[in-house]
Amino acid sequence: MALLSVRDVTRRFGGIVAIDGVSLDVDAGKIVGLIGPNGAGKTTLFNVITRLYKPDSGELDFDGRSLLRTPPHRVVSRGIARTFQNVELFRTMTVLDNVLVGGHTRTRPFRSRGAEARALEILDYVGIARVARRSVAGLPFGTLKRVELARALVAEPRLLLLDEPAGGLNLEEVSELGAFIRKLRDDFELTVLLVEHHMGLVMGIADRIHVLDFGRKIAEGSPEEVQRNPAVIEAYLGAETAAA
Ligand code: ATP
Repeated sequence: MALLSVRDVTRRFGGIVAIDGVSLDVDAGKIVGLIGPNGAGKTTLFNVITRLYKPDSGELDFDGRSLLRTPPHRVVSRGIARTFQNVELFRTMTVLDNVLVGGHTRTRPFRSRGAEARALEILDYVGIARVARRSVAGLPFGTLKRVELARALVAEPRLLLLDEPAGGLNLEEVSELGAFIRKLRDDFELTVLLVEHHMGLVMGIADRIHVLDFGRKIAEGSPEEVQRNPAVIEAYLGAETAAA
């Protein structure tokens, strides 16, 4: 049985259909890529899975139970955590406090010694323990992305949704990121759903890939299958032609 099952989900914004009858399964322990040209509906699907958006129709199951009957504020405690494409942190708070926010679903009170120790351990794991007591304002984008990742990990998710983790990284950092996501999956026993435009990264680490285009799912398969799929080639070449 899939850990996450998305069935025929549609979400509209006024006249715009952002996702249209999308179905996909994410199996436990896998790294699953979600790709597609700009505006394909990838972030909208993340927002539906995390209950930021209510779908107009369709069903979502996580770990065998409906997600749509889970109130949005309980999604994290059910085991789903995420990062955001453009980084969503509390700018006036320290790095450590931002991470403690993520742990709040697991540990109370907010600032217990145990919660702080765990948050510091995770900050160390993602390589930024040295800035734990600094305000997030003014930190480089790459560091902020790690703060977000730490905030997600401290919530002890089973499913981690990563929205464009390679955005803003240089080539060398991207290749390190691939190995790091695999290590994360193993060390934290995670399932990862990854939205990413960096094809080298997705093709290198994903066990399975789902492809969206104009809100519809146009393909799924292994990285090799997806790269050979004529509908996928057309969607990406079409996008390149339009951008040229
Ligand atoms: P990108 O790769 O550029 O981030 P995406 O695949 O994540 O794109 P979405 O951001 O999900 O795509 O957008 C899908 C479509 O839905 C787009 O046409 C977008 O303009 C529209 N859309 C998304 N969110 C909203 C919103 N809040 N209000 C109106 N339209 C929206």
